[in-house]
Amino acid sequence: MKYQDTIDFIRSLYKTDEFISLHAPVFRGNEKTYLNECIDSTFVSSVGKFVDRFENMVAEFVGAKFAIATVNGTAALHIALKLVGVDKESEVITQPLTFIATCNAISYCNAKPVFVDVDKDTMGLSPESLAAFLKEYTAMQNGICINKMTGRKIGAVVPMHTFGHPCRIDKIAKTCNKYNIPLIEDAAESLGSYYRGKHTGTFGKISAFSFNGNKTITTGGGGMIVTDNEKLAKRAKHITTTAKIPHPHEYLHDEIGYNYRLPNINAALGCAQMEKLAEILANKRETAEAYRRYFSKRADISFCSEPEGATSNYWLNAIILENTRERDVFLKESNDAGVMTRPIWRLMNRLGMFKNALHGSLENAHWLESRVVNIPSGVRSRIKK
Ligand SMILES: *Cc1c(COP(=O)(O)O)cnc(C)c1O
Repeated sequence: MKYQDTIDFIRSLYKTDEFISLHAPVFRGNEKTYLNECIDSTFVSSVGKFVDRFENMVAEFVGAKFAIATVNGTAALHIALKLVGVDKESEVITQPLTFIATCNAISYCNAKPVFVDVDKDTMGLSPESLAAFLKEYTAMQNGICINKMTGRKIGAVVPMHTFGHPCRIDKIAKTCNKYNIPLIEDAAESLGSYYRGKHTGTFGKISAFSFNGNKTITTGGGGMIVTDNEKLAKRAKHITTTAKIPHPHEYLHDEIGYNYRLPNINAALGCAQMEKLAEILANKRETAEAYRRYFSKRADISFCSEPEGATSNYWLNAIILENTRERDVFLKESNDAGVMTRPIWRLMNRLGMFKNALHGSLENAHWLESRVVNIPSGVRSRIKK
């Protein structure tokens, strides 16, 4: 087998002959204690102390003023977009190289995604491509950025920090300011990732995090809306909790709201996971460093290291194979050998639902799509020195 050596190396890292998954969660803290507290108190649903505690822990960790927990990351993105006014008259600029949730959330607002290329090194939205697209295709009308071809407003820009590697978010933020477009960060994959010392998800107006089972930490399913804007935070909480007006006993709702609140039982898991986050991040960095060293000795595979100026959480380690044929050989050999690997996502503009979406040149996205593979990245129980 052509890639036996790499498969053996991954096995040596994880020290097991059994199946190695891409990213299994680990529960080695207070998870069971907190879950039992929920059950004993009967507060398992959408009201309970763990929800507040989890929100405070995340807000403090990322350095944001407000955090509002949601049932999942997609719901957090949906509400983030809705709160900045994305609607059926809007186009939302995002990257084609992302998980489907980004485009689903845009679609839930009845808006249209527009795809702009990524950078090869960050795999996230390219600030240069964004600026070029806005310059060529848009005009300002009464302070609103309008697509000259369609007449629709650019309702938001949604970059995504791919696999935890921060994109050049400072430059993207600057361009968004210049064109008066709300910046929404899809930070679903980047809890614990920083760009020039500032946590991802704190550069835009609002951001969304995910705590799905395969993410850096998990609440089973869960998400978080993060913002520094008090008004948006209050709106986010209101609209994710059925838009109920506080009253001792009456059911009064002042708009169509959502039942997007995170249950207490999931938040309990989140609190226990947050207590271990620093340890989890350190463990994952060691794994990434071991991969980096190993792949630096191979001419045919390159390892995706954290971009310049960034600290990555290395959520999912990624490698770049020489071409699609080699990628497919690697995928087959590794998965057949019980070492789970996965190709990067199919580009969004190649899926049926978005095949007519507007897009600029997507050269880098296509290049990465045909070569990038994710390799096992979960926390290792015993670190090999
Ligand atoms: C995980 C993820 C989300 C949110 O997913 P949920 O499963 O709804 O929590 C959103 N965007 C990206 C890029 C993701 O990876």
